[in-house]
Amino acid sequence: MNKSSIKIAYLYEDLMNTYGDSGDVKIIKFLLKKAGYETEVDNVSLGTNFDASKYDFVFFGGGQDLEQTIVAKDLPRHKQTLQKYIESGNPMLCICGGYQLLGSYYKTNAGITIKGLDIVPIHTVFKADKRMIGDTHYITQWGEVRAFENHSGQTYFDNDKLKPLGKMIEGYGNNPQDGVEGMRYKNLIGSYSHGPLLKNENIANALVDKIITRYHRRTEHAL
Ligand code: GLN
Repeated sequence: MNKSSIKIAYLYEDLMNTYGDSGDVKIIKFLLKKAGYETEVDNVSLGTNFDASKYDFVFFGGGQDLEQTIVAKDLPRHKQTLQKYIESGNPMLCICGGYQLLGSYYKTNAGITIKGLDIVPIHTVFKADKRMIGDTHYITQWGEVRAFENHSGQTYFDNDKLKPLGKMIEGYGNNPQDGVEGMRYKNLIGSYSHGPLLKNENIANALVDKIITRYHRRTEHAL
């Protein structure tokens, strides 16, 4: 490993990557390069050892129910390291299926309950009669975002510890009732937005700033 690179962990890159979510990582790499930083991306997949404290950014993309079921069996190994990483205020982005798996559970179309990491107080239930698909437009603390959603899981907050990522103008976001999209907790962002989300430069730049801050803290601390 090159000590001077910014380290990105891509959780289950080979399984969790719907509708071009890997574009989020490509955009982060591009913007970091522009800012003068080299990056290394590790695919943390089934059976891979993972210590989140060695990373500056963790990405978890979307997946279909089948992939989510496979990933959810391997994921509990990483609960402690991810929880510590998130609680310490380090940057992480989770999209759709990855976002759902950070919560307590995802009840699938087949009526199977997939246990999530239970790191954030959300739960998700698949509703067969309502596929939330189409363009989304919402307002965040960083301004307007335009993206695309495609999910049947409806996500609900279980308490008021989390803030939504945005307020819907067009589309559904977390569910058809609440009029909000995604969640924010410290420097963790969860979102239903594909497209990829980070084609929205306002969010991408905010995240890149956090990643650079984290990188300097981690490497200076290691000296
Ligand atoms: N399988 C999940 C759902 O339909 C997530 C889909 C996705 O990640 N695109 O809600």
